[in-house]
Order: sequence, then C-alpha cells, then structure tokens
Amino acid sequence: MFLINQVIIFTVGASLASFAVLVGMRVPAQASVIFPRSYCDHCSQTLAVEDLVPVLSYFINGGHSRCCRQPLSFLYFIFEFIGGSSALIIYYILVESYRPELAWQLLLTSFFGIIFTVSDLQTFTLPNSVMKFFLLFSFLYQLLFYGSDIGWTTLGSLGLFSVLLALYIMKPGSLGAGDVKLMVVFSLLYGLTETILIVFLASGLGILFFIFSLVIRRGKSLKKLPFGVFLFFSAGVILLLDSVFLSFF
Ligand SMILES: [Zn+2]
Repeated sequence: MFLINQVIIFTVGASLASFAVLVGMRVPAQASVIFPRSYCDHCSQTLAVEDLVPVLSYFINGGHSRCCRQPLSFLYFIFEFIGGSSALIIYYILVESYRPELAWQLLLTSFFGIIFTVSDLQTFTLPNSVMKFFLLFSFLYQLLFYGSDIGWTTLGSLGLFSVLLALYIMKPGSLGAGDVKLMVVFSLLYGLTETILIVFLASGLGILFFIFSLVIRRGKSLKKLPFGVFLFFSAGVILLLDSVFLSFF
C-alpha cells in the first residue's frame, strides 16, 4: 500500500504539470486552454487517453507520438517528472514536518513555474492573463498565512515595484516588463528578503548561462535571455533547500 500512494500522488502531480505545459503553450498563442482536447503537435490528431498517461506514455511509445511516429519533445517528460516529484515533496512536507505554508509555496511555484517556463522558452513572454492569477494566488497566500502583516508586505512589494519600474524606464532592455511583474509577485509569495536572494541567484545563473552560450556559439551572443526561467529555477532551488534543511531542525 505504501508504494501505491506514492504512485498516485506522483501521477496527480505529473498530470497537473502536463496541464501547465498545455497552458504555457496555448495562452501565448491566444488559444483556449479547454478546447480542443490535447492533440499531436505534428499531425494535429486528437490524443487518446492512453497517450495522456504522464511519464509512462513517453516511455512506452519510445519518445515518439503513436499517431505519426514523430519524436516528442523531451520537455514534456522533464516537466511531468518535475510535477510528479514536486507532488511527492509537497506530500512529505505536509505529512512529515507539517509545514503547510511551505507546501503551498512549492505548489504555486511548480504549477506557475512550468506555465511561465514553457511560455518564456517559446516566446520570451510571461503572459499577463496568467500573471493575474499568479498575483491573485500569491496575495491570497500572504493573506492566509501572514494576514496580520499584509499591510507591510503590500507596502514592501509596492516599494520593490517602484525600484524595478524606475530601472525598467531608465535602462530600457535591461529588464523585461514580465520579469518586473514576476519579481513583485514573488515578493508577495516568498517575502522581500527571499525574493532578493532569488533575484541574485537568478542573475548569477543567467550570467553563467550567457558566458556558456558565448563559448558554445563561438562568440555569437544571444539576443535575449528567458530570465523568467532563471527566476523560477532559483525560487525552486531555494524552496528545496528550505524544505531539506529546515526539516532537520
Ligand atoms: Zn501525430
């Protein structure tokens, strides 16, 4: 029975992640996230139920679509795996160390992180329609767990917003509008200190990635960097460190 629970939790997480990937692909393309049902990226045929089993379908079909035998993006597999693992970690955080505030942070981070990562990788945008939901959920999170400080937190977020906005206006191109909004939402979800830590880590990783890409591409520099991806990755790393280290104390 022990393993069955784990498999169910992993599958639920991976399915949620699979939905997040779909949202991340369809929203920037202005397509509905509900209709049509999932279809093949290559021949547009509607996928059967057995093609939609997270992670497993990818392996059973050897990384190819069943309808037209075209290679499937490895990204699906990666995101489903991340979603499933996050669900397991959330489960343990709730059951073993009972820290619901961390569990909620991890849930919102992985779900919105996958949507924004897919969108940022494909179009270099973080869609406003999704950002509104992320803002709403982060605000509710803050209200639910740290309601008595909501005034101060909101003030802190507005302060951060003015600093970033000033930077955005004075140095055009240094920051994307989406990145500014994302950092402000982060300050509601993680608090100001944690957000600054995340931004530092993301910038460091971004610079490393940029240098690495220069070497790989023999000196041709990238025109744009999907900074939202680095922000979410860093948030994930810091949350994981939080859940691992704090569980020892
Ligand atoms: Zn196909």
